[in-house]
Amino acid sequence: MSDTGQGTGTAWGDAAPRELHLAAGLAAALVDEASVAGDEEVCGLLVGRRETDQSRVARTVACTNAAPEGRRQTRFEIDPRCLIEEERVARGSGEEVVGFYHSHPAGDPIPSPVDRTYMGLWPGMVWVIVGARALAMRGRVRAWSFDPGREVVPREVRIESARGESGMAERPITRDP
Ligand SMILES: [Zn+2]
Repeated sequence: MSDTGQGTGTAWGDAAPRELHLAAGLAAALVDEASVAGDEEVCGLLVGRRETDQSRVARTVACTNAAPEGRRQTRFEIDPRCLIEEERVARGSGEEVVGFYHSHPAGDPIPSPVDRTYMGLWPGMVWVIVGARALAMRGRVRAWSFDPGREVVPREVRIESARGESGMAERPITRDP
């Protein structure tokens, strides 16, 4: 989440997943969505299932970027109604919101200082970021989670396609220096 609210941690569980399973097709769709939006950030929800140390994304839900006009180039705010509605839909299905995604239209798929602040408010959630370009040896789509109780840095989470390919991220776990 961005500027729209605070997570409690307890509602979502504090365990930061070590792996994110995201089908290559879903990742490609996020890249397409970000491309269509031009220079404004897109944002949405990752819905799926949480297991002990991994989350599996079944689908993504695009939400309106509710950040003020003129700020959407570098900020996003997920419309709270989007989250509330999706929680209602998912209730009883065994699925839940396991994370958020957003794009960096002019930047790398690495959490910004603002992102890191909000990541700390939503421990246990996976944050997928779509960058403007692929980093060397890496893709445009990368996933991160916050590790509660340890240093205040995001942890990269592996993205795997449904077929077990791991073209999105080469290293499963990386800590920022
Ligand atoms: Zn960001």
